[in-house]
Amino acid sequence: MFTDDQLNNIFDRTDGKCHLCWDKLKWHNYANFGESGAWEVDHSNPKANGGTDRANNLYAACITCNRSKGSKSTKSQRRKHGYSRAPKSRQARIQTWTTWTVLGAATLVTIGLIAEAQKSKPNQDRSWRS
Ligand SMILES: [Zn+2]
Repeated sequence: MFTDDQLNNIFDRTDGKCHLCWDKLKWHNYANFGESGAWEVDHSNPKANGGTDRANNLYAACITCNRSKGSKSTKSQRRKHGYSRAPKSRQARIQTWTTWTVLGAATLVTIGLIAEAQKSKPNQDRSWRS
């Protein structure tokens, strides 16, 4: 039904976690019902509701979550576990981390420049203080 490549992509999309309860899944336990970390491919928008087999509709989910989800919405199932979104892929997390680090560094440089600029004009202050 799915090729190993497709399964790899789906698994990595949420960094090997169930997209509903965020539990860690085990790659080699794909479709091994009853094993720890067993998982299946969940159609986020169920096929019964017109969901497609396209990659953006496919998520890894533990078998228990997938079966209990039935035709209920992904949103309500995630909310049940206290989540509003799917776990991020490793790549997305690295991108977020990089963005914040760059922004943080840029902010520090800016603060440094402002401090330097203020140090270099003490004469302006003296005029009104005296
Ligand atoms: Zn789950």
